[in-house]
Amino acid sequence: MTAISYQRVCKTFVNEQRDSVVQAICDFSLDIIENEFVCLLGPSGCGKSTLLNLLAGFLNPDSGTIDFFGQTVAKPAPDRGVVFQEATLFPWFTAAKNIELGLEAKRLPAAGRHQVVEQMLALVGLSGKGHHYPHELSGGMRQRVALARVLALEPRALLMDEPFSALDNNTRERLQDELLRIWSSHKKTILFVTHNVEEAVYLADRIVVIGPAPQSIRAEIVLDKVRPRSRTDASVRYRSEQLRQLLMDLPCCLAPSSLQKGQNNDH
Ligand code: ADP
Ligand code: MG
Repeated sequence: MTAISYQRVCKTFVNEQRDSVVQAICDFSLDIIENEFVCLLGPSGCGKSTLLNLLAGFLNPDSGTIDFFGQTVAKPAPDRGVVFQEATLFPWFTAAKNIELGLEAKRLPAAGRHQVVEQMLALVGLSGKGHHYPHELSGGMRQRVALARVLALEPRALLMDEPFSALDNNTRERLQDELLRIWSSHKKTILFVTHNVEEAVYLADRIVVIGPAPQSIRAEIVLDKVRPRSRTDASVRYRSEQLRQLLMDLPCCLAPSSLQKGQNNDH
């Protein structure tokens, strides 16, 4: 079943200060099937976050549509759980309370909420840490809480925007493994944005390489389904090198898609 479908999506931003418009996404189409793990890979500024925010419902497309399990996306909903680069936790609430907040909004009774919170803390490897406040946790732990908070709402899809890129390498690799474990046990559709080639090659079923608009999709690579993968395997290194070369050949993202206001911006 198709989980996510971008159909000829365009999105332009107006930059009032610079008196210019930026064509972030132009005529972008992509289908993702249920439980697929897709990495969107591309250099900074090529529209990866915009694509994710459109699917999350934080932004509306100028034209085109985005369907989520057959329904056109119009606004944010808990069936699409978003994890950002920095864990957006409330600093004055404990980790457990941060996870519980979304469940309160769902009107789950207190006993049920506490049970789900404990389950989610265990799922992300934070059993017994629920009483800590965000500032008492490491960056990796905060990201685990952010993931637990989203998973508690039982989303059908996880939308992840460079969720591990602020972490040190060790923590990042550990969290990649945790995510793969959760993905295989809880079967979710994942759209994962990264500019890190190794991360994409390690995680994804399919890598969609995007460059600046227009002609956003530059390559699609379907990876071997075998898991777990080895980070040092020759085929993984070969893929990474191939993708790195592809990214180096992409033009700079800002220049070609920035147009002065009033200039012809038809697409
Ligand atoms: P990426 O996530 O790939 O780095 P973004 O989706 O954040 O790229 O941005 C794509 C382009 O759109 C960039 O040129 C960026 O400056 C521009 N852009 C993104 N969001 C806004 C916004 N809210 N206002 C103006 N321009 C924006
Ligand atoms: Mg981004």
